Amino acid sequence: MKLIFKTLYIIGLSFFIVSCGTKRVVSTPKESTVKPIDTAKNPAPEEKPEVKIIHKNNEDFFRTNIADISKNDNTASFGSIVSAKLPKYEVVKTYFPAIAQNFRQRYIILHYTALDHDKSITVLTQQSVSSHYLINDFDDDEIYQLVDENKRAYHAGVSAWRKDSQLNDTSIGIEIVNSGYVKDSLGQKIFPPYQDFQIKKVAALVKNLIERYNVPATNILGHSDIAPTRKQDPGPQFPWKKLYDEYQIGMWYDETAKENFYNQTVNHDFTALMQDATYIYKVQSDLKKFGYDVATSGTLDDATKRTIEAFQFHFRPEKYDGIWDGETWAILQVLIQKYPPK
Ligand SMILES: [Zn+2]
Repeated sequence: MKLIFKTLYIIGLSFFIVSCGTKRVVSTPKESTVKPIDTAKNPAPEEKPEVKIIHKNNEDFFRTNIADISKNDNTASFGSIVSAKLPKYEVVKTYFPAIAQNFRQRYIILHYTALDHDKSITVLTQQSVSSHYLINDFDDDEIYQLVDENKRAYHAGVSAWRKDSQLNDTSIGIEIVNSGYVKDSLGQKIFPPYQDFQIKKVAALVKNLIERYNVPATNILGHSDIAPTRKQDPGPQFPWKKLYDEYQIGMWYDETAKENFYNQTVNHDFTALMQDATYIYKVQSDLKKFGYDVATSGTLDDATKRTIEAFQFHFRPEKYDGIWDGETWAILQVLIQKYPPK
């Protein structure tokens, strides 16, 4: 073992000396005079692809993607490369590209503004909140960009999903102009619908972001998914199923698989079950397993009710009373099976 480590160390050390000390060897590897390796015994290490840079209007752009896209590691950049510009030194981008890098943009979070068009713009551009994009409520061909995709916008606030938290750091925020809910005489929240042309804009934008940043279905979420005790947007009128069916965006479940789970619950009395600490703990654990940040207290507290409601906004929008029932349970089971946490 010791010998192997020592050999590896020497190989590593000599590579280090070559790569850091001799520009020529790295930048023109074809001129290397090293003897060919016996590939049967020693498979050749993967060659690093050559990095190509485009120079345009005094700015540099990466042209090649050297990393493994399946790991969501990627060196393609969608915009000019930001690097130091120094009077005395040259910053060189082509010698030592690192494979270990990924996009900051790993989530897409959808919101409604709960304001009209003009107020949405004022609040999102002049106050302490913002989003990367704003979908207006006009049937035109414009989508407003308010923040550079590479920078943080302040749209998520205190937030969490699965193992991640503080999602402003890792997300693109999209706000949609929509007036938000009002409560009716019974206290039920009534949400206004979105316009079809707004949904088409959202779909086109989200599709483009997914393709560029390789965002997984499990990371395309509503504000209420990542902050269920505080937020209701984009609400039950947001057509998640339509986005899934027509644009392959986000998560949805298979109806037959749901029915199979639902049929197991026909004799269950959920009102009684939800008074039992062990059962409530199981409900909380399942919600948490799927992604919601809810405490597994075994108590049916306000936070748990709101989390159930947030789950229904997204995945069972026909009935979003925050009351646990057979269909809500069945949908959650199918989703956990289909999108298992890693
Ligand atoms: Zn929001």
